[in-house]
Amino acid sequence: HAKKNGRGRFCVYRPAMGEELRRRRALEFDLRSALPAGGLELAYQPQRSGSGRLIGVEALARWTHPTYGVVGPDQFIPIAEQGGLIEDLGLWAIRRAIRDTILLDGLRVAVNVSPLQLRAPGFVEAVRGILADTGFAADRLEMEITESVLMTRDTQTKANLLGLRHQGISLALDDFGNGYSSLSYIADTPISRIKIDRSFTTQLGSKAAIPAIMRAFRDLGAGLGIAVMAEGIETETQQRKLEALGINEFQGWLHGRPMPVDQLSALVAADTRRRALQVISC
Ligand code: C2E
Ligand code: MG
Ligand code: MG
Ligand code: MG
Repeated sequence: HAKKNGRGRFCVYRPAMGEELRRRRALEFDLRSALPAGGLELAYQPQRSGSGRLIGVEALARWTHPTYGVVGPDQFIPIAEQGGLIEDLGLWAIRRAIRDTILLDGLRVAVNVSPLQLRAPGFVEAVRGILADTGFAADRLEMEITESVLMTRDTQTKANLLGLRHQGISLALDDFGNGYSSLSYIADTPISRIKIDRSFTTQLGSKAAIPAIMRAFRDLGAGLGIAVMAEGIETETQQRKLEALGINEFQGWLHGRPMPVDQLSALVAADTRRRALQVISC
């Protein structure tokens, strides 16, 4: 990306660039109509405790484009942010996640929130409105924010974070350890959970320092009295290592892929039955 190269550097022209730019413009144009037309979906990925119990889900946006096929959020979220669509998209995601999960047995649902949404003065009010309209319990709603949000000096962002907490919504620090991780910012914000970035889980078997870092994350969570979740668990080996390090919340392919809402309903029903049977056998 030319932008990332920064000022004072020049960007070598590649023939592919024109094509990329065209695609990007087309995606932005189509995203504008896909959102009101119902072209976006949410997929839900399970979050589990060490015993395998379902403790929540993360809602992840999905877009199937008529000609490009499935376009991932890593592609269309930045487009939405730069094209001024993220506030609408973000509120759509919150409404949709609530609509999809409201009947699912008290399940907690986490929605990703862009830093740009948090800069908007009306954000907390809009969320309050959605909760009031739906009757969804605020403590079932979690918002995933990134470290950059905590680093900002923007007073509206700070006010919004406090406003969300005041509503009873919990805040999770997403991709933790991958950004700036200035711990002083954690002290200033009422975070409820840290989600350790997937890269740490991935490198568990290959980098000698990772277990010590994981233990530090675990202790940080314990000291602050907040939950610590590891992301990106794909193998039993990673799972065993994380448990041995005292991590007790998990999200990753091993525990379930992101799935459509009807599949999630079946999963929640199965989990509820399993828990009921455990109670009976006690
Ligand atoms: P994220 O919030 O960190 O979400 C986790 C990403 O890791 C998801 O990618 C998920 O599918 C993927 N993942 C989960 N478990 C595993 C695993 O075991 N192995 C591997 N390799 N990957 C795993 P996805 O769905 O492509 O989302 C990418 C990012 O897009 C998200 O990262 C989030 O930052 C952003 N995003 C998604 N939906 C929304 C949304 O509604 N609003 C905003 N603002 N951002 C969103
Ligand atoms: Mg997330
Ligand atoms: Mg994450
Ligand atoms: Mg991520």
